[in-house]
Order: sequence, then structure tokens, then C-alpha cells
Amino acid sequence: MNVVCNNFIGGDLIPAKSAQFTPVYNPSRGEVIAEAPESDAKSVDQAVRAAREAFPAWADTPVVERARVMFRFAHLLEQNFDELARLITREHGKTPEEAKGDVRRGIEMVELACHAPTILMGQTLDQVARGIDGRVERHPLGVCVGITPFNFPAMVPLWMFPIAIACGNTFILKPSPKVPLTPMRLAELLAEAGLPKGVFNVVHGGAETVDALLKHPDVAAISFVGSTKVAKYIYEVGTAHGKRVQAAGGAKNYMLVLPDADMDATTNQIIGAAFGCSGQRCMAGSVAVAVGKAGDPLIESLDAAAKKMRVGPTDNGGNVDMGPVIDGAARDRIKSYIDVGLNEGAKLATDGRGVMLTELSGGFFVGPTIFDNVSPEMKIASDEIFGPVLSVMRVDDLSEAIARANQSPYGNGAVIFTRDGGAARTFARYVNCGMIGVNVGVPAPMAIFPFTGWNQSFFGDLHIQGHEGFHFYTHNKVILSRWNDPGKRVLGW
Ligand code: NAD
Repeated sequence: MNVVCNNFIGGDLIPAKSAQFTPVYNPSRGEVIAEAPESDAKSVDQAVRAAREAFPAWADTPVVERARVMFRFAHLLEQNFDELARLITREHGKTPEEAKGDVRRGIEMVELACHAPTILMGQTLDQVARGIDGRVERHPLGVCVGITPFNFPAMVPLWMFPIAIACGNTFILKPSPKVPLTPMRLAELLAEAGLPKGVFNVVHGGAETVDALLKHPDVAAISFVGSTKVAKYIYEVGTAHGKRVQAAGGAKNYMLVLPDADMDATTNQIIGAAFGCSGQRCMAGSVAVAVGKAGDPLIESLDAAAKKMRVGPTDNGGNVDMGPVIDGAARDRIKSYIDVGLNEGAKLATDGRGVMLTELSGGFFVGPTIFDNVSPEMKIASDEIFGPVLSVMRVDDLSEAIARANQSPYGNGAVIFTRDGGAARTFARYVNCGMIGVNVGVPAPMAIFPFTGWNQSFFGDLHIQGHEGFHFYTHNKVILSRWNDPGKRVLGW
């Protein structure tokens, strides 16, 4: 019997009334280990009611006390660090090191939430008019919702609820039904940290559950991370229903390689960016653009490095460089993109379809794959494949390389490898996206900075993380006070 995940509502584990379930796999073995139910509108309403009822008392709790819960939560996350990483490996398939990275980046968000008392300080200006003082305060919004993707089971939920809660909101998380176990463990730890009942809730499900949340009149704000198609839908429907929305979408990230780049270091960075987490990252480097003479040495060294990668199951503590992809559908989609690339006339330099595994396991595997001679009109150059497939383009000069990157409809990350500071500056200034790396393969900003996707990679105004995250979860109140003193008791005047 598989474990069916319960919802977590008002501090209690409550079964969702559901006729539909999504299987949760151990992707290293291809075995079903749990099931996530689809929560109907009634279950969603129950969660929203619990969050709405908890809101007034939580919003009135002094911010230092709210931050203290986050300090305790951070401490519990550290204490349970290895167990959380193992859970991520089990339900997602990340290597142990990648899973630890997922938890570490998440903890950094909780550490940022601990700064709420300082970050939420308002502004004041006395005597804005005669006898009148002005001040700006930051107030929570109410019930906030987070809808998260499968690829970072801990980090992406932690991008959202620690800040929202530290700001005085209550929260409902709707995690990906493919990885519901890690978020449930986070809920347990947050309760253990002393968060009052109803402040944090979890409902499981997919599109039906999301629709009920998007349209619920008592939901004030929606944070979403996932594919562009769904991000756009969430933004349009959420804003049409009067909610504040931040919706981060998919990506296709370009990496430019100039002929003067340090080829060994660049190869390491590109291999990590393209094949880390089996290519399932919104900041994965998926197109390398080789400028001038960089083409041949780059392909040669990438191919050699990719062929050395050990691919295999990640759940047995074995020493592998790359694990499985999330499920059989993802594996089949990625493989079909390799066929598309071949049909489009790209040259398959490294073929990951017949990957040699470290052991036979029944899991969902695609090996590192590299295409050479990719041209901009090909689908493999523009579609987000979300797997370990790297496309290499060849161009004559820097401006052509920047133009190629700027053809992408997305706008998450772009990277340049060079020793030429002027070229790096021109690239950083004119490339049309929000997160830039100079000799850094995955320029994902840490918690203190905003995660600044542009174009089709983000819908909304205020990004996730950093001070923008705090602004998203609060609205300003400006208070003008007139206190006349008829006695004019001003000493010495
Ligand atoms: P997804 O869009 O399929 O799912 C994301 C969430 O939306 C899940 O909770 C899912 O249950 C829900 N959902 C799916 N279909 C829906 C629908 N039709 N209506 C309403 N809700 C729906 O994404 P995924 O496959 O879980 O994650 C991979 C995607 O996430 C990639 O495109 C990746 O680039 C993106 N991503 C983006 C960022 C970023 O910061 N921009 C970060 C991580 C992942």
C-alpha cells in the first residue's frame, strides 16, 4: 500500500476528498512510493478558512516574535539537514550533493526571513506640513498562496512561505504532486518551531486545486513557480480575480564562450550548468554559443567531459555525477527532443540515449547529450527541453552571439566565459535577460538578491527573494498625524 499524502490544514493532517491521485516515484528505481491526492474546491475552502481565521492574531503578533519562529525553524532545518536531503533524493532523484544544495539554498531564505524586523522598518518624515508628521508602515496582505514545481522540492517552497509568514501573512502551499513528501516534512518542522495552527497549510493537487485557489475570494496573493504556459495562466486568472501575483516561468539560458576563455574552467562550468540536476533547473545552461575559434576545442572538451560522467541511481549513496529525470514521461519527452534535433539536421556530438548506468535499476535515465551545429530556427535551440541536452551554436563574433541570446523569448539567465572585461561588460549590458553570469555557469542569485527573470520567464512586478520578496508580501500604509500644541511649549523658542 502506498502512502497517500494528507493535507495539512489548521495544524491537523486531513485526508483530501479525492478520486484522483498522482503517483510519486523514486525516479532512481521507477517505483511508486506514495500518492498525492487532487484536493477539490471544498478542501481548498477549508484551508482558506483556516488561514483566514489565523490571520488577525498572526498579523498582530510582534514582528520580533514572528522572526523568532523563523530562527527556530532554521535551527530545526539544520538539525534535520541530512534527512531532508535524503528525502529529496528519494522523491526527486537528485544526487546527494544536489539535494543538499536544495536544502541549503532553502535555509538561506529562512535566514533572510529572520531579518524581517529590520527589513520591514518603515519610513518617517516629521513636520511634512506645519504640525503634521508622516510615516510609512508595511502591513501584511492576508492569505497568501504558493504553487511550486517539482524541480526543487525544498528550495522553491522556501522561496515563498518564510518571507510571507515573517511579514505577518498566513499561507497555503500547493506543492508539485510529483514531490509532496519534502514539503510535508517542512510543515512538520515549522509546527515544531512553534508556528500557531492555521498560519501555514498545505493542500495537494494539480490543475483543479490550483483553479479553486486562484478564484477563491479570500486569497490575497499568489506566488507561482513553474513552466511558462502555466505561469502566464496563473498571472492572467489570478489578476483577473483581484489577486497580487508573481509568476516565474520556464527558461532557455545561453552561455557565450569567447576564444580567450580558460577552456578547462569553462568546460567544468558548462558541464555543471547543463547537466547538474539532470538539466532540470530553470537556470540550467542549455545553449552554448561558441565564438570564432572557440568552437572545435569547446566541443572536444565538452564531449570528453560528458563521456566521463557516471550516471545512475542516487538513492544508495553510490558515487554518481548525474541521477535520473523525474518520471517516465519526462524521459520520453527528452528523448523525443533528441530525435527532433537529429531530424532538424543538428550534429549529435554526444548521444545520451544509450547511457551506460552505474547499475541496472529500472529508473528514468537519459545520459548527457550534446548537439553541435545547432542553428537558431531549430526547435532544440528555442524550446525548454528541461533535461540533460546541450545545444552548441557557432558564430563569428560577440555581437552575433549576443543577438542569438536575445532571440530567446525567455529571460532568466545568460552567461559569458571570457578573460576580456570589455566584452563581458558589453554582454552584461546588452543581453536581454535578468540574471547574468561572468565566468559563472549558473548565476542563480542568493536569497538576499531578487530572482530577476525577465520576458516570458516572469509575469508580475515584484520578484521572489530579497527585498522585492518582502515588498510582494506587504502593502504600504501612509499615516499623516496632526498633533497641535496650543500652549506652544517649545523650550528656548
Ligand atoms: P509545471 O508548470 O508543470 O507545474 C508547476 C505547478 O503548477 C505544479 O504545482 C503543478 O501542479 C501546477 N500545474 C501544472 N499544470 C497546471 C495547470 N494546467 N493549471 C494549473 N496548475 C498547474 O512545472 P514543473 O514541470 O513542475 O516544473 C518545471 C518548470 O518550472 C520548468 O519550466 C522550469 O523552468 C520552471 N521553473 C522555473 C523557475 C524560475 O524561477 N523561473 C524555477 C524552477 C522551475
